[in-house]
Amino acid sequence: MADLHTDVRYIKGIGEKKAQALHKLGVFSLYDLISFFPRKYEDRSQFKPIALTMDGETVCIQALVADTPRLSHIRRGMDIVKLRAVDDSGSVDITFFNQPYAKDNLHRGESYNFFGRVELRGGRRTMANPVYEPEERAGQVTGRIIPVYRLCAGLNQRSLMQAIRQGLDSCLELLPDILPDSVRQDCQLAQARYAYENIHFPADFQALELARRRLIFEELFVLSCALGRMHRERSLDEGIKLKAFDMEEFWRSLPFAPTGAQRRAVAQAAADMASGAVMSRLVQGDVGSGKTLVAAALIWLCAKNGYTSAFMAPTEILAEQHYHTLTGMLAPFSLRVGKLTGSMSAKEKRQVKAQLQQGQLDLIVGTHALISDDVEYDRLALVVTDEQHRFGVNQRSALTGKGVKPHVLVMSATPIPRTLALIIYGDLDLSIIDELPPGRQKVDTFAVDESYRARLNGFIRKQVQEGRQVFVVCPMVEENEELPVKLKSAQEHAAQLAAVFPELKIGCVHGRMKAKDKEQTMAAFVAGEIDVLVATTVIEVGVDVPNASLMVIENAERFGLSQLHQLRGRVGRGSHKSYCVLVSDNDSPEVKARLSIMSKTNDGFRISEEDLRLRGPGDFFGARQHGLPEMHVADLGADVDVLQRAQEESRRILALDPELKLPEHKALREKVDRLYEANSGGFN
Ligand code: ADP
Ligand code: MG
Repeated sequence: MADLHTDVRYIKGIGEKKAQALHKLGVFSLYDLISFFPRKYEDRSQFKPIALTMDGETVCIQALVADTPRLSHIRRGMDIVKLRAVDDSGSVDITFFNQPYAKDNLHRGESYNFFGRVELRGGRRTMANPVYEPEERAGQVTGRIIPVYRLCAGLNQRSLMQAIRQGLDSCLELLPDILPDSVRQDCQLAQARYAYENIHFPADFQALELARRRLIFEELFVLSCALGRMHRERSLDEGIKLKAFDMEEFWRSLPFAPTGAQRRAVAQAAADMASGAVMSRLVQGDVGSGKTLVAAALIWLCAKNGYTSAFMAPTEILAEQHYHTLTGMLAPFSLRVGKLTGSMSAKEKRQVKAQLQQGQLDLIVGTHALISDDVEYDRLALVVTDEQHRFGVNQRSALTGKGVKPHVLVMSATPIPRTLALIIYGDLDLSIIDELPPGRQKVDTFAVDESYRARLNGFIRKQVQEGRQVFVVCPMVEENEELPVKLKSAQEHAAQLAAVFPELKIGCVHGRMKAKDKEQTMAAFVAGEIDVLVATTVIEVGVDVPNASLMVIENAERFGLSQLHQLRGRVGRGSHKSYCVLVSDNDSPEVKARLSIMSKTNDGFRISEEDLRLRGPGDFFGARQHGLPEMHVADLGADVDVLQRAQEESRRILALDPELKLPEHKALREKVDRLYEANSGGFN
């Protein structure tokens, strides 16, 4: 009997060669193997009478071989086996290309199951290269629901299926059930053995559903437990304890009143920082909800306490912008604000670093340069960063040297439904800014198709003539992706626009450019030197161009709702009336429904709720780019009920047994540990 950590190469029936192929799929241990879930399933459990099959349909038939299969050599390197198969209803001509052995495997007068695609040719039904097996020994590749796996060179469906079958056979008996009995029973979930068997080789669709539900639950439950454990460990870390100050002093300095949500977020974070533990808090708010102000208030609080704060931005331009904004907000208090980015001269950098080391700055704004080895901080209390550029555990300690860990405030501009946020960010405390400052103007949004192209071009020209700037976003095209006919790449589209508008300055930023060139083009756009910027989604991050008043999104059907909302948030940031045009020639009802939601609301949280309803939670897990282990949930298609239930149950179990030390939680603890270690001690 193998144990779950056994290397796949030692599993009976899997040799060195197959093992190497499996490695390419990320499958190393027996446990990886049985956790390599199918991508989809093919229903070969139903048979159709031949006469009822249709042109182009992929079906299972049960038929008698009516003549002796004939082998012929068409030309060198091309063998063809032909035969006719019949059932009570009709007949089909079957052809095998380059499978000469089919001639010997199939015998006249015997019955077989065939699975393949029917095509009508000259009024006759034909099937090329079907999968087949004798009717009396069927059940391997026909007559059941068949799993379909992701493949790589060196493996085909059949050999992978066999490998998994062997894997299951060698461990199913011993497979521990990591779900505590109470959880399994309360939530009416299938046992582990049943689930692993039926996710691969379901007896029927009901069994598949039971298996799926159990495994989704399990994955989320383990994730929740791991995040819960992180959260607990952090709360045990000793942190800098700040004294409370009356925040009114800060609020009074503003030209406007803070929103209730901003006050709440600041109060929550201030309480964390006064607690004696280290703060790890996520601030989630829609674009324009005023997250920067929340950070400014807390930076002020730290300065009042005599501590330095660091604000880390993902790019130079953003660092510049934040430096500017924060300097303005903190000016009434004469705080000392410095800047540190890669493009500064060696001398400037040296000066700033010396200031930091001597504790002469209240705030340092910068890029990743802030966490390079040679930067030393004196009395660093707070680090503010954005979600995509959160740093790992090691980098965090780079910030602190040997000192006490600083408090961390993470900003996220991706509104996600609260239920999901609680799960995905289970390791952080959460502040949600669900209120926009008053008087925000709405970005008028239109979904249009190609027939509007001329009018759209006219509109672009008009905006530029009025002195405004325009963003045009094209979907990211993966290098190896087959291009659907009309998909626009940013570069091609920029070239087209340049031809349409010879008088305008068109710029282009795309994923394959060097970071430095991207930044340069972005900077030129910010400076107003470019009229129309064609870009892939690189512009999603919060660059502020108040003069931009029109956002055009090409192939809008390729974007998720939340992403569209993010992109739209790039305009309407100044005083100019702003617009968003979603271009899509896709007329499927789902796409139309999705795009019309964008025209109806500007509320990011509502949009994300709709996104969740329409597309399921998979993308939201993807949206949290770093730190979370890869989830299978997306592939399995989890629903929110299961998510919520898994979260509740993990809390219940952790409340009972915070370190999972009870013997009945042994298997669970091992899996949680593995997940935790695989992410090098934490999820950031
Ligand atoms: P976010 O980063 O959340 O997208 P910002 O912090 O950039 O939003 O704020 C967007 C704009 O709103 C800024 O110009 C900011 O000065 C302004 N702002 C922030 N809070 C308020 C408020 N309470 N009342 C009015 N304007 C505000
Ligand atoms: Mg911002």
